Amino acid sequence: RFEGVPMAPPDPILGVSEAFKADTNDLKLNLGVGAYRTEELQPYVLNVVKKAEKLMLERGENKEYLPIEGLAAFNKATAELLFGADNPVIKQGLVATLQALSGTGSLRLAAAFIQRYFPEAKVIISSPTWGNHKNIFNDARVPWSEYRYYDPKTVGLDFEGMIADIEAAPEGSFVLLHGCAHNPTGIDPTPEQWEKIADVIQEKKHMPFFDVAYQGFASGSLDEDAFSVRLFVKRGMEVFVAQSYSKNLGLYAERIGAINVVCSAPEVADRVKSQLKRLARPMYSNPPIHGAKIVANVVGDPTMFGEWKQEMEQMAGRIKNVRQKLYDSLSAKDKSGKDWSFILRQIGMFSYTGLNKTQSDNMTDKWHVYMTKDGRISLAGLSLAKCDYLADAIIDSFHN
Ligand code: PMP
Repeated sequence: RFEGVPMAPPDPILGVSEAFKADTNDLKLNLGVGAYRTEELQPYVLNVVKKAEKLMLERGENKEYLPIEGLAAFNKATAELLFGADNPVIKQGLVATLQALSGTGSLRLAAAFIQRYFPEAKVIISSPTWGNHKNIFNDARVPWSEYRYYDPKTVGLDFEGMIADIEAAPEGSFVLLHGCAHNPTGIDPTPEQWEKIADVIQEKKHMPFFDVAYQGFASGSLDEDAFSVRLFVKRGMEVFVAQSYSKNLGLYAERIGAINVVCSAPEVADRVKSQLKRLARPMYSNPPIHGAKIVANVVGDPTMFGEWKQEMEQMAGRIKNVRQKLYDSLSAKDKSGKDWSFILRQIGMFSYTGLNKTQSDNMTDKWHVYMTKDGRISLAGLSLAKCDYLADAIIDSFHN
């Protein structure tokens, strides 16, 4: 009876890692998946995470089920990190927060909520966006379309196009926004542009829906990276926010994140939370405890919290150094006069190189550089030592 099941295509992002593993060439470089690596290109467990885990072991904590909404101490900490502990929306109890299965699971829960309570609504997403967004809304049966975002001519933001498309979307659409460090482009709106985006969303009675997967990882500062979300909240708008601790605490496999809904009144937040719980229960019952305890312990202890911020700055700093070195190498080696400064203007883990599919194929087939076919490279997977090699590969792929 299973004979009729066709083979699914490999995932465009996770499939890159599988292909990388199969390559036996010593020069190979994995710039596909967005996971932080040390200068030695090894995975990194934060010292502060190890410290929190040691504490947890010493305390001999149990493995009882969490409630459907997750660990209370985590939910409190995560909302405070996002909005700021003294934000009026927190003090007034306007935020419904549910611990969920990292960024992806939080987005998926939000999508199920939209499908159930706003069946007429459409989600609009940036073109391009993180590939999994489309899968998430497709599987939740939420209709979506794209708004303009990337301008290939400037390798920058198509701000006019973005505003025009948000304006043209049916009133009451959900507008998916990357809180910081837009994936895949690394191009974020300026603070002034965020104000204008908020204006249009407010005018059109749209619902802002933030995906915050890189708080603290873009600039190195948790507060700075929450600027966009806080700006909307300050205007008194209702807001949806999905959060992830995969990158900023390196907890990729722990699947720890949250969905936050800022509502107009505490009773509304209570009702929204009750419905999110109702959606979560038949999907996965309740979330895992380990990552939630790590986050709660780190944030709840002033010393560990300080250490986390330092480690985050170091990670963000290493990526910035690699960005600079790659730019320097490209500028020194490329004799065509091409302006590579867009690399320095991009933010976060990724650089959107502008390489097309054929050129990206050349990167992999000839140079053993593994990357997604949209031209995105993860600078978190690059070391200073490999920048010259990568620059050679990029120049060869661009000009041949
Ligand atoms: N949103 C964006 C934009 C991302 O880049 C990612 C991670 N690649 C996620 C969400 C979610 O990741 P996770 O499920 O590991 O938290």
